[in-house]
Amino acid sequence: MGSLNTDYIVIISFSGVLHVFLAFLAYFRRADFQGAKAFVAIAVTSAIYIFGYALELSSGTLNEIRFWTKAEYLGLPFISPADLVLVLYFVGLDKLVNRITLPLLFAVPAVSCVMALTNDAHHLLYREIYLRPDTPFLTADIVMGPWYIVHGSYTFGCLFAGACIIIAKWNSMKHNYKWQMLTILIGILLPSAASLAYLLGLSPYGMDPVPVVMSITSTLYILAIWSRGMLSAAPIARENLFANLVDGVLVTDLSGRVIDYNPSAERMIPELDASIIGKPLLLLMEQASPEAASFVRNSVPDIKSETRAKWLRSGQTLHYLLRSTPVLKRGGGCVGRMIKLTDVTEQTVLQEKLRFMATRDSLTGVYNRGYWLEQSREALARCRQLERPLSLILLDADHFKSINDSYGHDIGDLALRHMTGIGSGHLQDDCPFGRYGGEEFVICLPGMPLEEAGQLAEAIREEIAASPLMTAKGPVSFTSSFGVADDRSGSTLEEILSAADEALYRSKHSGRNQVHLTRRRTAASAP
Ligand code: GH3
Ligand code: MG
Ligand code: MG
Repeated sequence: MGSLNTDYIVIISFSGVLHVFLAFLAYFRRADFQGAKAFVAIAVTSAIYIFGYALELSSGTLNEIRFWTKAEYLGLPFISPADLVLVLYFVGLDKLVNRITLPLLFAVPAVSCVMALTNDAHHLLYREIYLRPDTPFLTADIVMGPWYIVHGSYTFGCLFAGACIIIAKWNSMKHNYKWQMLTILIGILLPSAASLAYLLGLSPYGMDPVPVVMSITSTLYILAIWSRGMLSAAPIARENLFANLVDGVLVTDLSGRVIDYNPSAERMIPELDASIIGKPLLLLMEQASPEAASFVRNSVPDIKSETRAKWLRSGQTLHYLLRSTPVLKRGGGCVGRMIKLTDVTEQTVLQEKLRFMATRDSLTGVYNRGYWLEQSREALARCRQLERPLSLILLDADHFKSINDSYGHDIGDLALRHMTGIGSGHLQDDCPFGRYGGEEFVICLPGMPLEEAGQLAEAIREEIAASPLMTAKGPVSFTSSFGVADDRSGSTLEEILSAADEALYRSKHSGRNQVHLTRRRTAASAP
């Protein structure tokens, strides 16, 4: 039976050596992952406890046993809170580990340690340590003191909390990190089960099975560090970063199949759910936004590119900035792409508003002079290229000064809006209508010959003359005069404008409320 004890001591010592090895391994990875420090703490405290127990088992007298039991407590009480800290780091709750919580977490273990060292004076941890009469080799048993209950409950409490956190976070964890979490979970549950068996008196000769079980868990840890990259990077911390990004992120492989996405992407693209994993991103984009679909179709994974795409979401138009970046493997080769979606709706709406404001006349809403000139020049160039006609109408409110004088400036403003409202009602979308200055407006009519433009001017003139502005002070009637020219009147826009101005001058001087074409007066106009 003595050999059983020796075998046991050998196994335990092996477990201790594994923990020392683990401590070094974690120590050298500490720069890669902050939680590695907790790992070092677990390995070192476990090694102290395990070697202490090996020496307890090899003791020849009760006093030696008492001595090594105390030594075990330099490590044992600290293992489970260190386990809890490790879990917090792995699930990304590391902000909970700070200068306040850390001393609090280790306060009970520190007291347990002091209690063990000073137990002879108070017997609060162990009431008694005695030699077991029923074992073929020297083994001690204890009679628990009140602090032992506190120490035991605290140890199990920490392990239980750690296990619960892992289980609670399990579903939100990506597959490749689940192996690492499973290793930690086994590292918590297996020694807990062994410890429970010990407390219930189920272990042979009342020997503590925990150090042996810990040789299994430390082997698992070593394997996880080597083969699954445990501690080589902050897995859950990185996971958290990805999960907490405000921007949506979609990751595809080289063939364009979705391999990952973050919760923001799910929020931004309602069509996105777990079923997309493994399916082409294009499929999703075709449902979500045609612009985004054409971006995915036309851009290549290994070159950075970006675009803006409109997104319709619950009846609202959103604007997303899509940036595609290559995902590179360690050696530098491209293995896929990451598409980042940034919601730029607010910015785009503001830009559009500013652009709109920069092109419009604030009173009437028609184009301002600068923008009208720009648009009309382009229209003239297009028409010349396509050999199509182009006409301009210049219109000016008649005796407008007297409207201001009689009714006030505010009514004058309303009259100008009334006038442009009537004008716009006669125009197609592609006819730039602008304020040329004061109460003078100008219309560009791409594709329209002079006579037709004259008829249009006539229709507008008639409607303005026949539609008084209704005000609180009564109806305000006014008329306007028109000058019409076409692209044969000059080679530049300015020359055509000047021809139209000349025609307008003739309308004014022939009695106002008239339309004059650049070469002849329209038959339909009023006297
Ligand atoms: P005519 O028939 O010869 O064009 O006479 P008119 O009085 O319309 O022309 P004139 O150039 O003498 O006066 C133009 C007036 O239009 C003077 C100016 O105060 C007024 N006006 C120009 N811009 C605005 C505006 O934005 N709001 C108002 N209420 N009046 C304006
Ligand atoms: Mg006028
Ligand atoms: Mg004028």
